[in-house]
Amino acid sequence: MPRKKKTSIPKTTKKRKRKVKRFQTVRGMRDILPDEQPYWQKLRKVIEKVAVDYNYRRIDFPIVESVELFERGTGMDTDIVDKEMYKFKTAGGDWVCLRPEGTPSVVRAYLQHGMRTWPKPVKLSYSGPMYRHDRPQEGRYREFYQCGFEALGEQDAILDAQMIQMAMRIFKLLKLKKVSLHLNSIGCEECRPSYNKLLISYLKNRKKSLCMDCKRRLKTNPLRVLDCKEEKCTQVVSQAPQTVDHLCGDCKKHFTTLLEYLDEIEIPYSLRPELVRGLDYYTKTVFEFFMEDENGSQAALGGGGRYDYLVEKLGGPSTPAVGFACGMDRIVNAMKNADTEPYQAPTPKVYLAQLGDVAKKKSLKIFEQLERSGIMVAESFGRGNLRSQLNQANKIKAEIVLIIGQREALDGSVILKDMNSGGQETLPFDKIIKEVKKRLKKNADMAKKIAQQERKKAQNLKKKKKKKK
Ligand SMILES: [Zn+2]
Ligand SMILES: [Zn+2]
Repeated sequence: MPRKKKTSIPKTTKKRKRKVKRFQTVRGMRDILPDEQPYWQKLRKVIEKVAVDYNYRRIDFPIVESVELFERGTGMDTDIVDKEMYKFKTAGGDWVCLRPEGTPSVVRAYLQHGMRTWPKPVKLSYSGPMYRHDRPQEGRYREFYQCGFEALGEQDAILDAQMIQMAMRIFKLLKLKKVSLHLNSIGCEECRPSYNKLLISYLKNRKKSLCMDCKRRLKTNPLRVLDCKEEKCTQVVSQAPQTVDHLCGDCKKHFTTLLEYLDEIEIPYSLRPELVRGLDYYTKTVFEFFMEDENGSQAALGGGGRYDYLVEKLGGPSTPAVGFACGMDRIVNAMKNADTEPYQAPTPKVYLAQLGDVAKKKSLKIFEQLERSGIMVAESFGRGNLRSQLNQANKIKAEIVLIIGQREALDGSVILKDMNSGGQETLPFDKIIKEVKKRLKKNADMAKKIAQQERKKAQNLKKKKKKKK
């Protein structure tokens, strides 16, 4: 009997081990692993640079907001609020959601913190994750990243132009080519009602040819029929009256002024009567950026437009505003296809090796001293074997290796091995930082000199070739 018991114990532990659940990301969510991060870092750096250059100040707002903010801001009958919002009731009984986009949050913050007293326009930029419970597709996630720019308090079309200019600057800095600007004006409260009437009567006569969604939109949001992707709807829409032909005087002037600005800064555009942007708050200018991918199909990078009534709709005073947002996941994808150079972090040129227990103890402190004095150091403290540490130093192309052995640890010194010359010397701890800095500078100067000489050589070659021609 005891024997039986003995054999049964390991069996059950085995069974239990197999049962432990391994977790996966939730559907539509993903990890962005270290290998991909250099692209994201590059993108963030470019966005940050452009934001500073164009005088936009960073704002962060919560991921969780009240449901009503988006119902009232983005609109009840928009896909992102109606169908795709992650909403839930908190233990306290409030209806909250994971933010599906940034603009209503920016306006909420603008009002909450009295930014209307700030000098106008108030220019704000943000970036971070957004959430939409959409059907996941290749390159499309339920948690996705957006960066956005909002300028509040100015109605002049020059801001619309500058917003577009800024977006183009971002694409240019990321070396994204074949980016095209689609543009439209969808009017204001003055001119849209009469246009809507016209559109409805046109669509009503062709109701049979519309998709189910558009039949519903006809009642709730007829403008949105214009950007339906269903083929039967695009056919109907192609002959529909166009918003630009029915703008009021003010909207017309605003739009033609914007076009003049764009001509002036030489940004080509293509006028798209079907472009309406699908959210309730847009007025006048709407725009989108598309990039042609390697298969020749168009992928949207981002877009934006004017939202002159949103501040008022969310309880503030009448405040014109214009904004733009782009999908960072898509841009990162585009960067990879465009062979954009990802961000390259500086790499350590010094490697710290240790041998023996006493040395190992000292090494943490020395590492910190070097790091504090601005010297980047690589190490593999977990390894005891000196040869494997030196291999590692070679692998990362370290210029200097510092070795602390048992004896050095006891008498307070370090062996400095110069990997370029192969020479080595023993130095007291307190001389190390100065010596390392001196040698690194010498190497850097040398590298600069060589690079300069090579550039000169290349230039001379070019000149010679020109002369021959
Ligand atoms: Zn108008
Ligand atoms: Zn449709």
